[in-house]
Amino acid sequence: MEKSTTTPKGRLILVAYRLPFKIKKEGDTINLFQNSGGLVSAVLSLAQGRESTNIQFHSKIQWVGYTDNTREELEGQELENENFKAHPVFIPDDLNNDYYEGFCNDLLWPLCHYFPSLAKFEDRYWEAYKEANMLFFEKLCDTIQPDDTIWIHDYQLMLLPDLIRQRFPNNKIGYFFHIPFPSFEIFRLLPRRWREALVDGLLGADVVGFHTNDYVESFLKAVRMILGYGNKMHYVHLNNRIVKIDSFPISIDYAKFHEAFDDPEVTQIRADARNSLKEKIIFSVDRLDYSKGLLHRLHGYERFLETCPDWHAKVSFVMVVVPSRDTIEQYQQMKSEIDQTVGRINAMYGRIDWQPIIYQYRSMPFEELVGMYTVSDVALITPVRDGMNLVCKEYVASRKDLRGVLILSEMAGAAAELGEACIINPTDNLEIATAIRNALEMPVEEQAKRIKAMQNRLSAYDVFTWTNDFFTQMTMMEQEQNKLRQNFITQQDMKEISNSFNGASNRIFFFDYDGTLVSIMREPSDAVISDEMKELVNELAKSNTVVVISGRDKAFLENVLGNLPVHVVAEHGALVKTRESGQWHLNESYEDGWKENIRSILDLYVQRCPGAFVEEKETSLAWHFRTADDQLYAQRRAQELTWQLKSFIQPEMHLQIIEGNMVIEVKKTAFNKGTAARMFLDKGDYDFIMAMGDDTTDEDMFEALPETAYTIKVGDALSVARKHIRNQMEVIDLLKSIRDGQTIAR
Ligand code: UDP
Repeated sequence: MEKSTTTPKGRLILVAYRLPFKIKKEGDTINLFQNSGGLVSAVLSLAQGRESTNIQFHSKIQWVGYTDNTREELEGQELENENFKAHPVFIPDDLNNDYYEGFCNDLLWPLCHYFPSLAKFEDRYWEAYKEANMLFFEKLCDTIQPDDTIWIHDYQLMLLPDLIRQRFPNNKIGYFFHIPFPSFEIFRLLPRRWREALVDGLLGADVVGFHTNDYVESFLKAVRMILGYGNKMHYVHLNNRIVKIDSFPISIDYAKFHEAFDDPEVTQIRADARNSLKEKIIFSVDRLDYSKGLLHRLHGYERFLETCPDWHAKVSFVMVVVPSRDTIEQYQQMKSEIDQTVGRINAMYGRIDWQPIIYQYRSMPFEELVGMYTVSDVALITPVRDGMNLVCKEYVASRKDLRGVLILSEMAGAAAELGEACIINPTDNLEIATAIRNALEMPVEEQAKRIKAMQNRLSAYDVFTWTNDFFTQMTMMEQEQNKLRQNFITQQDMKEISNSFNGASNRIFFFDYDGTLVSIMREPSDAVISDEMKELVNELAKSNTVVVISGRDKAFLENVLGNLPVHVVAEHGALVKTRESGQWHLNESYEDGWKENIRSILDLYVQRCPGAFVEEKETSLAWHFRTADDQLYAQRRAQELTWQLKSFIQPEMHLQIIEGNMVIEVKKTAFNKGTAARMFLDKGDYDFIMAMGDDTTDEDMFEALPETAYTIKVGDALSVARKHIRNQMEVIDLLKSIRDGQTIAR
């Protein structure tokens, strides 16, 4: 099938703490040395296009970020290569210390990783955080153009989305949080004004992304508790906008790791390691950080040695720790504790011909890393908290041979996606020890089965799909945002409506019944149209076409509207009684051939919601989620699916979405208020169209009408209607003023 690519009008501006280049001045020329990290290649895919990417920017990516080059060095220089243009932010060292080392790494990092005892709550850190976010903002003010999309990354820049929103209300803004978002009880440790500003800052974006659904829930709770905004599933409703909060589990360049298996250098490293190590190899690699559970891992391995003497001298544990922040005392202490523990275990269990732990404190080039991934029988990944953890994904991706066992902490975000790993709790030594033993003894068929299942998932959602997913949501949000703008009718609008009414010769009105022609009653049978309203409708209907479209059954409508000269539609469009015939008709079914497109949407939501499935019936497709693994999560997806289906399905497709009990069904042949309205429109050449309604089912009607129609939502709920009036009482005023050709003063 031909892939359709969207080209956004403006440019992509990426904002992250650091620029992805080393900028080196050699003589008079400036050279940019680009990092090869996952985010860089993901973003590149948006400029260069890819099979799995259907969004493509046509200009260079603008990247705003901190550089440690001085302003003088870079003054007047063009900082660009073939893909990126760099916009450096200069942060004085003192400020950067309090901002980056202080607020970011000594407060937000430990707090978000559930180490509140390590968090330092310094006022000057907060001041520096605000000041540094302002420096990024100032740089953006010089950079942003009207149609640009701005994508902000990570916890260093939480205030930025709202700063931008205030100044550039119409630009698309996305934000992604790369670390765990903690539970509210942890987040509330932040002083009130700090936490308010941080959450408010993020809500300036159109889409706020997190790795997992747990983080999404924590954030939604923080929004509700701190700012009082509720959410409807994934959407936070602000006064004039909605913000989508969703999970986008970041991934890796799957193909790069998978194909590296056959690289000659990787093959050589694998062979060398196999020759020099014991018959089974356990491997781990992480940065030096308290969140990585390095000591927990050592204790688990020690317990394994203690409880499994039959494995002594048959296994080598290669533990690589990548240097990070080791000038800080806390990290130095942690390192010396690791050094001591490794020494103690090796001393206790080692032999002349066997060192239980081969410990290295260094970084590894890519080929060596993949060499070690692909030679290892077991990857032992035990963070006590990790936003995602990419190492475990890289391990799985690189196992082209379908061998190896992943032992993974349940505290890693990746655990939500990698259910076939041996999932452990890092605080449980015995569980780690048992997992190691089981992993070492796992039959190769079982290894292959598990690795394959994980590979299927990872290859389907690699870092490029991740980026594409995020941007697809951004595009969808733009459409939703435009549709949902709330505009209350003004005097000027009323004048326009009256003029248009008076100038027209063929007019049609669509009225919802409950909540529009009558106010909502506790007892539905009490909702009887008032004489005044009845008379108004009667007068309008004398010289105009009036259609009352309701979800009520025909008997009720017959009873309350019986002798009015109007067309009546019952049960959301299934039954119609025209004014001329005076008879009720059941609508006929429509043409076939609609399933393929709907199916692909439902299938996408099967991928995004483990346990859900699609059932295909003769005239409908059903997305069932009774069997989903996580019901709360599935409910959210169900809402989102409904929303997406609604924006996808056009009136002329004659499809209906039915939200049943743990199932969402799309049917042909059925009607909604939109199809019913269209049916009337198709019969006449109307030059004035007005529709009023208060209910969610009236949204179908509003959407079905042409842009020239006056669609009016009763009440202030977000709506696709062009205009709002405040309540049902105002319906009468509005209709009177139209009848009298007068304006109503407000
Ligand atoms: N990595 C690296 N240098 C090394 C070893 C590993 O850059 O010497 C990479 C590794 O391939 C992975 C990343 O560092 O992509 C670590 O990501 P992860 O999410 O696992 O942990 P983080 O360090 O981001 O907390």
